[in-house]
Amino acid sequence: MKIHEYQGKEILRQYGVPTPRGVACFSADEAVAAAQSLGGVSWVVKAQIHAGGRGKGGGVKVARSLDEVRQFAGRMLGMRLVTHQTGPEGQVVRRLLVEEGISIDREFYLGMVVDRESQRVALLASSEGGMEIEEVARESPEKICTVRIDPETGLTGKDAEEAARSIGIEDAKGAAGLFQNLYRAFVEKDAMLAEINPLVLTSNGSLLALDAKFNFDSNALFRHPEIIAYRDLDEEDPAEIEASKFDLSYISLDGDIACLVNGAGLAMATMDIIKLYGGNPANFLDVGGGASREKVTEAFKLMLKNPRLKAILVNIFGGIMRCDVIAEGIVAAVREVHLEVPLVVRLEGTNVELGKKILADSGLPIIAGTDMADAAQKAVAAARGA
Ligand code: ADP
Ligand code: MG
Repeated sequence: MKIHEYQGKEILRQYGVPTPRGVACFSADEAVAAAQSLGGVSWVVKAQIHAGGRGKGGGVKVARSLDEVRQFAGRMLGMRLVTHQTGPEGQVVRRLLVEEGISIDREFYLGMVVDRESQRVALLASSEGGMEIEEVARESPEKICTVRIDPETGLTGKDAEEAARSIGIEDAKGAAGLFQNLYRAFVEKDAMLAEINPLVLTSNGSLLALDAKFNFDSNALFRHPEIIAYRDLDEEDPAEIEASKFDLSYISLDGDIACLVNGAGLAMATMDIIKLYGGNPANFLDVGGGASREKVTEAFKLMLKNPRLKAILVNIFGGIMRCDVIAEGIVAAVREVHLEVPLVVRLEGTNVELGKKILADSGLPIIAGTDMADAAQKAVAAARGA
C-alpha cells in the first residue's frame, strides 16, 4: 500500500528523521493560510499523488510570495499531473503539501528495500540525490552504496557511518543516526520500500528529508490501523478496489482480452500465452482456489467494466475446485451480466466432462477451448473479429 509524501513525512518525524515543516492542503485558500502560518520568505507547493517524478511534471513549485502560493496551488489542484510513473493518462491532484522553502547545499539519495536475494533489508545510499536511482544504477552503479542489513543486529552504527562516508556526507555520525532511524521506521511499520530522494544537506549544515516515499506490505496491514488510516482510495484503480472487496486478486492492464483464472501462476501463464499468440491481456485476475458462484459473477462484472474489452478467456484448472462448480458459476454469471463479447472457456481437471456438459447444455454462445494454446488462439481471433 502506498501513501502520500506528507504522510510519509509524518512517520519520518515520529522516528526522529527531520523534514521541512509543512501543512497538507485541499484548497488554494488553505495553501495561503498554511504558508502564512509557516512564515518565512519562500514556500514549496507540492502536488500529492502516489507517484514520483512530480518535479519534472510541474508538480513541485517554489513560491516567493503568498500570491504565488495561491497561483500555484490553484493551478495544481484538479490538474492531471503526468509523470513517468503515472502513465500517459496521469493522476488528478486533489491534495497539496505546502512546505517551507529549504536552501539546499547538496542532495543525496537514501532508500531501503526488501532484497529478496539476500532475504534482508537493503540500504541504498548515493551521492546522486534527486536523480532516479534506477538511472544511477544504469549509468554509474559505482555511485550506489549498498548495505544488506543483518536482522539480528539491525543497522549498526559502524555500517551506517561507513555508508554515509562513502557517499560524501561529512557528518557521518549524524547521518548514521538518521539512517538507523529510517531503518527502525521501516521494520516497525512493515514497509517494503522507503525512499528519501533527496536527502539534503541544508546551507546551515543540517540533514533533512525533502521527499518521502513509502510502500507497505499489505499482508501486514492488519497490525497497522494507523497506516490503513492513510489509505487514499482516490489514488487507487477503482476496479482493483472493487476486486479487493470480494477477495479477488485483480490488476488492470492495458490490453483488450480479459482473463479469469484460478491460481496466480496459471494466471501469469495465461497472460503470457495470450501475448504469444499476438493478443494483449486486459487484466490479471486470480479468483483463487475456493471461488464460489458469487465470486465468479463478481469477477465477470469487473472484467465487463473495461471499455476496451473485446473478448474474455476463462482458464480453469480444476483441482480442489471442481470444473462442474466453475461451469455452473460461469453460466450463472453470464446469464446475470448480459455478455456482449465472445467468451472462450478452457476447463481441465476434476469433473471436467461434467463441466463441459454444463457449458454445452446452457445454450449460451460459449466457445470451448480444448487446451490452453487452443483457447488462447481462439480468444485472440475472437478479439480481432469483435
Ligand atoms: P519528486 O521526486 O516527485 O520530483 P521531490 O519532493 O523530490 O518530488 O521534489 C523535487 C525537487 O524539488 C527536489 O529534488 C528538490 O530539489 C526540490 N524541493 C522539494 N521540496 C523542497 C523544499 N521544501 N525546499 C526546497 N526545494 C525543494
Ligand atoms: Mg523525490
